[in-house]
Amino acid sequence: MNERTEQIIETQGLTKIYGMGEITVRALDGVDIRIKRGEFVAVMGPSGSGKSTLMNILGCLDRPSAGSYLLDGEDVSHLDKMQLAAIRSRQIGFIFQSYNLLARTSAIKNVMLPMLYERIKSAAGEQEERAAAALAAVGLADRMTHQPHELSGGQQQRVAIARALLNDPAILLADEPTGNLDSRSGEEIMALLHDLHGRGRTIMMVTHELDLAEQAQRTIVMRDGRIDIDKRNGAGEGR
Ligand code: ADP
Repeated sequence: MNERTEQIIETQGLTKIYGMGEITVRALDGVDIRIKRGEFVAVMGPSGSGKSTLMNILGCLDRPSAGSYLLDGEDVSHLDKMQLAAIRSRQIGFIFQSYNLLARTSAIKNVMLPMLYERIKSAAGEQEERAAAALAAVGLADRMTHQPHELSGGQQQRVAIARALLNDPAILLADEPTGNLDSRSGEEIMALLHDLHGRGRTIMMVTHELDLAEQAQRTIVMRDGRIDIDKRNGAGEGR
């Protein structure tokens, strides 16, 4: 079905209620989002507006209390933890502000981590080759055996991006990917994201910085668990 391939993410009435009894928080209050394959979307909004809750659910780290979520055409809103973990390892690449690399572990071993969860294991040599290619693709061919503390922040984030891309996920979810970086390294990471987007990747990026959001094709602004604004960015590169 063509429809299935066009919308990577499609939610309807996505709702998340934390807590029970009298004190409950409606972290998401009926969110309808459609994201097309190949889109680059920025997510903004004040603290507490529901951005993390939304990203956690879209990233299959958590389940909605109500509403539906189709990820690449598959309804994942009712899956249990094990099933979500399986979908996550296949379909989602995460990039975090703090890189989340394992210390005292080489860049290439860090990139190979998602392979631990692969259902069909490839041969060890082939695994290393794939990880090496992923590192080369982010410009770190000469840093494969370096450990995180031997790399700059920008380089660590590139290792994290190589790791996120390893299983060829449907969507890359980035949570303030340049938040810990100086402006020059931040620009390098943004350039890498643009490059990945140009090659057809779907990217959703939480940011607090307007100028970064404007580099995406579309900006979604959350407020009180709802989508307050959903707009195309004039300056965002078209696809
Ligand atoms: P943002 O990422 O935009 O700062 P969050 O998604 O973290 O917003 O939070 C949305 C709302 O849900 C906030 O009011 C927050 O306090 C609440 N919240 C988030 N996580 C939990 C939790 N695990 N338990 C209870 N309330 C939570």
